[in-house]
Amino acid sequence: MTQRPPRKKYWNEPTLGLWERLFVPEIVRGMMITGGVFLANMWKWVTFRKGALTAYYPEEIRADYSPNNRGRHVLTLRSNGEVQCVSCNMCATVCPAYCIEIEAAGDFGDRAHPKSPKRFEIDYARCIFCGFCVEACPEDAIRMAKEVPNLPGFDRDAMWGKIDLLTQWQPMADPRKPYPDAAPPTQAHR
Ligand code: SF4
Ligand code: SF4
Repeated sequence: MTQRPPRKKYWNEPTLGLWERLFVPEIVRGMMITGGVFLANMWKWVTFRKGALTAYYPEEIRADYSPNNRGRHVLTLRSNGEVQCVSCNMCATVCPAYCIEIEAAGDFGDRAHPKSPKRFEIDYARCIFCGFCVEACPEDAIRMAKEVPNLPGFDRDAMWGKIDLLTQWQPMADPRKPYPDAAPPTQAHR
């Protein structure tokens, strides 16, 4: 017979008293708690009152999102209205859900920003809103705006955030980064 490896000991390992080791009374107690919540919610539902724990999303949108909710992505814009992104792909590389797709376009006449995204899409059916892409970006080109994304759909293809959605950024309303002054071209860029 193979030896079972030693189990990890937790600092707060529970100790079961006689009542817990009988199991049945604790199972009955748990069922009573669950049943009480179920009946309370059902009563609110049949009397047409709000407050049941279940939100009928997307018809109902919760008002009590956590303040830690990161919201949805925006691509920041340069003063000429073009996206700040230089298509370096670092966000797509770091994304744990592999849900960013970027197709780069080159404009070698623009010496300051020769690369930009022709296509920048996020698959919101897979995004876990971790914010890694924001952390990884060397250009501050992608941020998350604190608004609750309203992204459900019956078609997964319709849940791709395209570049027009992502560039709905209000720079004047974002105190963390006002528009930079247009930098004069350096000698190297002439
Ligand atoms: S928030 Fe996370 S999962 Fe979503 S696109 Fe960014 S890195 Fe990927
Ligand atoms: S958003 Fe940032 S990290 Fe992603 S491709 Fe653009 S510049 Fe690179």
